[in-house]
Amino acid sequence: MDPVTEALNEFHRRISALKDGEVASYIPQLAQADPDDFGISITSMAGRSYHAGKADTPFTIQSVSKPFVYALALTDLGPEEMLGHVDAEPSGEAFNAISLEPGTGRPANPMVNAGAIATTALVAAADPEERDARILEWLSAFAGRRLDYDEEVYASEAATGDRNRALAYLMRSAGSLAGDPYAVTGSYFRQCSVRVTAADLAVMAATLAKGGRNPVTGERVVAQDVAVRTLAVMATCGMYDGAGKWLLNVGLPAKSGVAGGLIAASPGRFGVAVYSPPLDAEGNSVRGVAALTEMSQQFALHLMNTPVHLTATVTDTVHAARSSRARDAERTAALDGDRRLIAVVGAQGDLEFTETEQLLNAVAQAVPAAPGGMVLDLTAVTGISRGPATMINAALRDLERRGHQVAVAVQEPLLGRAEGHPGFWAATRDDAVAWCEDRFLAQAASPPSP
Ligand code: GLU
Repeated sequence: MDPVTEALNEFHRRISALKDGEVASYIPQLAQADPDDFGISITSMAGRSYHAGKADTPFTIQSVSKPFVYALALTDLGPEEMLGHVDAEPSGEAFNAISLEPGTGRPANPMVNAGAIATTALVAAADPEERDARILEWLSAFAGRRLDYDEEVYASEAATGDRNRALAYLMRSAGSLAGDPYAVTGSYFRQCSVRVTAADLAVMAATLAKGGRNPVTGERVVAQDVAVRTLAVMATCGMYDGAGKWLLNVGLPAKSGVAGGLIAASPGRFGVAVYSPPLDAEGNSVRGVAALTEMSQQFALHLMNTPVHLTATVTDTVHAARSSRARDAERTAALDGDRRLIAVVGAQGDLEFTETEQLLNAVAQAVPAAPGGMVLDLTAVTGISRGPATMINAALRDLERRGHQVAVAVQEPLLGRAEGHPGFWAATRDDAVAWCEDRFLAQAASPPSP
């Protein structure tokens, strides 16, 4: 057995012994759930899934649908308009609380019912059928397979969901619900009755963790900025009135539902889902919370516990480089007689702030004392974020101002973005060094007038 499955089985074995909690019964059909059902699934960024226990047992998604439908409305409306309709503040209240902003009636928290119902109403559609179809298709794209409804749970909630209907009417009277409250709550009950397994939910969470790209199907389901905002809302608002404690103890964006589903996303690492129907007093799956708490501690997953990447960004420093360019005797002699030095600093990996700060420190150490050449060999660099790119440009400009010849070697995709950046951009270190030499030769041939 592979080590990940083995670890999941170990969690599963230990946590199965927990018998606390109550299966939700306010939706009559949910009371039918087997309290012993317990499944855990993980999907990695490479799209591999690992399971323990009842990872293929279907159940209704319930509130775990909320972050995904939030992402859909956010995609339709954009961030500003979305916030105008539904705030993003943890209300610290129960899932069915009436938490509306005094005056505007705007719901505070999109992850509990009032805010979620208002969010469902914002999904662009000509009629409720189109809205339901869009939501089902959207959830299916996250799961990477065609999902369907549990019609019995839907009927059961539609017949008894008076409080949710009341919330919707209340929001309409306050002016904060778009659309007909009865139809909107119908769509909301439909969305909650979508049938999933722990295995599906792990893929859905992994899609958010991967910045909106489904790691199994490879499809970009949602834009990266929407995925990031959705994870942020999950982190602050995802766990009902237990959200603060959850962030303290587990430290991952998460969402739970009353049927016993719970997802968490470890950004850039994996998506995880647990199914176990008995709920604690806050409405979260008892075994789900226990499993995620243990996992987070064992694998150091807490978001605030980001490892410091003081790794090997700088690969090498050369103080007096020469290119392999073949040159005639005259130029070779000219270069041999030229006292100016060409320094090279090589770097690798993704350049974020920490890495760039290291790189630029190495450049500052390596730069020749008198005007010469400075080459940044970034051919092993896989990505440069926007802020770090600005830092690098500023450093290059400063070197040019100080009279240095400046060249940068980068991989092909970055080479395409060279325009407008200071320095000469080349495809290889050798070309970059040769360019500095060429500049020396050109300057020697036509010395600046005194
Ligand atoms: N359909 C459920 C309700 O609105 C979802 C609640 C939940 O999972 O928190 O009551």
